[in-house]
Amino acid sequence: MLRVAIVGSGPAGVYAAGALSQHGDTTIDVFDRLPCPYGLVRYGVAPDHPKIKSISLTLRKLLEDPAVRFLGNVEIGEQLTLDDLRRHYDAVIFSQGSAVDRRLGIPGEDLPGSYSATEFVAWYSAHPDAPIDSFVLDARSVAVIGVGNVAVDVARILAKTADDLRPTDLPDHVLAVLERSRVEDVYVIGRRGPAQAKFTTLELRELGEVENIDVLVDPADLELDEVSRKVVESEPMMRRNLEVMTEWAHRVPRGRPRRLHLRFLLRPVEILGPDRVTGLVVERTKLDPTGHAIGTGELSTIETQLVFRSVGYRGVPLPDLPFDERSGIVPNAGGRVLRNGGAMPGVYVAGWIKRGPTGVIGTNKRDANETVAALLADLPALPAAPVRDPDAVINVLAERGVRVVTWTGWRAIEQVEAALGQAQGRDRIKIADREELLRAAADGHAGG
Ligand SMILES: Cc1cc2nc3c(=O)[nH]c(=O)nc-3n(C[C@H](O)[C@H](O)[C@H](O)COP(=O)(O)OP(=O)(O)OC[C@H]3O[C@@H](n4cnc5c(N)ncnc54)[C@H](O)[C@@H]3O)c2cc1C
Repeated sequence: MLRVAIVGSGPAGVYAAGALSQHGDTTIDVFDRLPCPYGLVRYGVAPDHPKIKSISLTLRKLLEDPAVRFLGNVEIGEQLTLDDLRRHYDAVIFSQGSAVDRRLGIPGEDLPGSYSATEFVAWYSAHPDAPIDSFVLDARSVAVIGVGNVAVDVARILAKTADDLRPTDLPDHVLAVLERSRVEDVYVIGRRGPAQAKFTTLELRELGEVENIDVLVDPADLELDEVSRKVVESEPMMRRNLEVMTEWAHRVPRGRPRRLHLRFLLRPVEILGPDRVTGLVVERTKLDPTGHAIGTGELSTIETQLVFRSVGYRGVPLPDLPFDERSGIVPNAGGRVLRNGGAMPGVYVAGWIKRGPTGVIGTNKRDANETVAALLADLPALPAAPVRDPDAVINVLAERGVRVVTWTGWRAIEQVEAALGQAQGRDRIKIADREELLRAAADGHAGG
């Protein structure tokens, strides 16, 4: 019987568990530092995208396979070390994602009122690490730096009304803040041109469908240079994006309560403010022949009281696991973790921590399959773990005082969330508080 530990129950970890369970004669323990599974499907994907959120139903089926055990509220690197895992498992797959945002590296970045998109997303997604009072939204003008799908999510949530979002699973404290929001202008700012923006057409188009906003695009920003023209000619998505933005550029603003400004070829230079954000200095850029943005020296200031940076993610190093600081991932070859150029026997990676924060959720399936194929190919050479009793690791965690959340516990959390929702005629309301989550899980364990 092969025994495998997976670190992280996001898409990559769960798809890896699914692929391994096909192998037969295998038991798989999926650990997560949070009491709840599904990673960014629960704590990243926007609440008003129910179709994408429903991927959790696929992930659920995989986690409910009899060969798989979910062990939530266990942080690897804190409560169990890599050595612990190697004592209890023949192989370990790390799929802990890329938890932190990249920084801009400009003055004023740490002023109150300047945040990462990650912090805002975590707050509205009811992530247990995000304090419930993180945001008040008393700003009238907000700048979102970055032109990928996460920036678009953040801009859309800021632009929508609380009533638009009430049917979702947003917690009450978030809806209450959105209800009082004074936001009127949201600036989405890209360093390069519209042809280099990373958002997908579907997400972009959706902005134009939000009832209470005017989307404003300066036609001058859509004039393409030689480099951008080539991009648009060769990449259908970029062409479609440009068509959507061109339509907006010619729309007459309808005087709606909120305005969403898409701005391009602007590089953030400094966040202003004596003791909290009052503005963002940007420099006009142009593209060099390789498509990189270079400054032109022409500066302007956007009046704003809140800045969100959304310029990418990177992984966090875990104890005993190699980490490439430059790329923010664990060095690997096709999923085999590399230390000093050689593969670490029985240690693998999958998902964002393996390839960086790219692709859609489905990309993690292919990625996890590649890793599992590597693991299975290595099997004959892998030394067997010395401890083979599946209860042994549970006993170690109990001795260390860890309140493990099992699948039964998670189902109990889901039931409490559904009951909270039903009381308000909604499907579900997420619980943000870790203690409350653990209490709900413990009641489930006691009852089950
Ligand atoms: C804001 C946002 C919105 C997105 N929206 C979409 C979308 O609409 N559509 C789409 O296709 N893609 C979307 N994505 C991308 C998608 O979420 C990722 O491709 C996917 O989640 C990556 O999967 P992963 O398993 O590698 O990482 P994650 O989903 O991040 O999962 C990692 C898991 O590991 C756990 N973990 C971390 N450290 C430890 C540890 N030390 N011990 C134990 N567990 C640990 C975490 O708690 C987490 O559950 C979005 C991403 C973000 C950031």
